[in-house]
This record gives sequence, structure tokens and C-alpha cells, in this order.
Amino acid sequence: MITPPKPRPEASAWSRPFWNAAREHQLLLQRCDDCRQWIFYPRIACPHCGSDALGWQQASGRGTIYSYTVVMNNAPSAFAADVPYVVAVIRLEEGVQMLSNIVDCDPATLGCDQPVEVVFRRLDDEYTLPCFRPLAAIGAPR
Ligand SMILES: [Zn+2]
Repeated sequence: MITPPKPRPEASAWSRPFWNAAREHQLLLQRCDDCRQWIFYPRIACPHCGSDALGWQQASGRGTIYSYTVVMNNAPSAFAADVPYVVAVIRLEEGVQMLSNIVDCDPATLGCDQPVEVVFRRLDDEYTLPCFRPLAAIGAPR
């Protein structure tokens, strides 16, 4: 059986800064210059106030798991060889949410509200994906 390639991101003119930063292992988020709200995913206008005065700022890279699922079985696809893998909604400290993967972990030890930090996984020469890994609690064994 031929395994199809994994889908690649498709950067738009307004999301290109996000992908360029990720390639350099930096997590950038849009922030509205008028109402100061953080924005994710990248857009051409602020979803809070409608302003098109949007800038980019480096995010903390920290957040918590809002929700997640562990994929244990996958029909033949580009991801079949990756099981088990974790798909999660991460609530970043800046208040926005990001759909990503939790990596470098035992999926059985994950839980909602668990602190995580960004790590980067190179996809190819153009794209690097922001993923997240558990952040050990202070004093907890790793
Ligand atoms: Zn705004």
C-alpha cells in the first residue's frame, strides 16, 4: 500500500510571518494595535474590534492543555505510522487557543489543565510546526 504524504500547511500572505518565525523556533502571535487583544489564527482584521492594524509579537510559548485526544488507531493514512499520538487544544498564556500535538510524553500521563511549553518539529525546508510538551511542575520528577 502506498502511504500518502502528510498534508503541508499552506501559508497565506497574512500567516507567512507565523510560519517564518516557527522555522526559526519562535512562536509569534498577532496582536491588535488598537484593542491589544492577542489573535490566533492569523487574520487580516481583528476579530475583536475589526481593526486592520495588526502586529506580531513573540508569545511566551507556555500554556495548558484545554482538551486532547490520544489517537490509538488510524485508518491507512499519512499518520498511521505515528500512532499513538496526541492531538490537543492548547490554551496559551496569551489567551488564544491553538490546535497542535503534544509530543515527548507518555500519553497516559496527560490531563486537562496540564502546563505545556512549545517545541518545534521540522516538517521540511519551508515549514516547522509548533508542538507542545508537558512542562514538569516545580518539584515534580521528570
Ligand atoms: Zn482589535
